[in-house]
Amino acid sequence: MSKLGEEPIPSEVPEDHPRAHSLKIRHRITDGLDKKIVAKAGLIAHGRGEAFDYLIGEITTEPAKEAIEAACSALLLAKHPIISVNGNVAALTPHEIVELSNVSEAKLEINLFYRTKEREDALEKALRVAGAKEILGVGLKKIEIHDLSSKRRIIDPEGIAKADVVLVPLEDGDRTEALKRAGKKVIAIDLNPLSRTAQHADITIVDNLVRCIPLMKDEIIKLKSKSKKDLELILKKFDNKHNLSSMIELIGTRFLDLAKKGINIPGIKEL
Ligand code: ATP
Ligand code: MG
Repeated sequence: MSKLGEEPIPSEVPEDHPRAHSLKIRHRITDGLDKKIVAKAGLIAHGRGEAFDYLIGEITTEPAKEAIEAACSALLLAKHPIISVNGNVAALTPHEIVELSNVSEAKLEINLFYRTKEREDALEKALRVAGAKEILGVGLKKIEIHDLSSKRRIIDPEGIAKADVVLVPLEDGDRTEALKRAGKKVIAIDLNPLSRTAQHADITIVDNLVRCIPLMKDEIIKLKSKSKKDLELILKKFDNKHNLSSMIELIGTRFLDLAKKGINIPGIKEL
């Protein structure tokens, strides 16, 4: 048991707490901070994500499901797909991201805004414990995307440098733009449909990565039986700008409904 006044460990979040699920996920982030996986700024990024998740109702919406289908088609069609992993991803969904990498044959590359050897090692360990065999973006052989000032410019010559499609869960807008300029197709997972990442990616999945990564794994398995032509058709039909507009509209409509009909948000009793 934790002492009075100390933060409870995840297993101590009472099951009947109305926000138990969200609190447990939050604890994965704070535990990740203790293990040096998550950077301090990652806590703030998570908070922004939580706020947007509230706005969309903490569910995977229909537009998000369409974006997942398009994203998985793009990963399957890619010659050299890469999944970029940062601290929050490694803390929130280590097993799920390794499983997604295995089924999609997209390699994992550690890419950090605040890169230190300590964090690089901590992420590598977390992914290895989760079952990862091959991890790019660690060790010495790294090259740089020149037009980016943060440490995220450091990329693996066998990974993002070569990639045609890059999945970037929780990305920073600057790097998304730099990846685009470098000719990559960018798939983003970002709960904020207004962020620069969401707006600049080729395919944006507006969903919590905790829900979305397992759904992507299932979708990849489902789509594997489709022909190349079918996958290309799915991609052709998908319109990211339209999808993002649908998400923004969905938030607006939901709020108007809540204002008219009363609040029905998890953890908030009807007024
Ligand atoms: P940008 O740089 O793209 O304009 P930003 O500066 O507003 O975005 P960052 O701090 O760079 O935000 O990135 C964090 C982003 O990750 C936020 O948009 C936030 O909504 C999103 N995010 C945080 N946690 C999650 C999560 N669990 N699932 C999906 N998205 C998340
Ligand atoms: Mg940013």
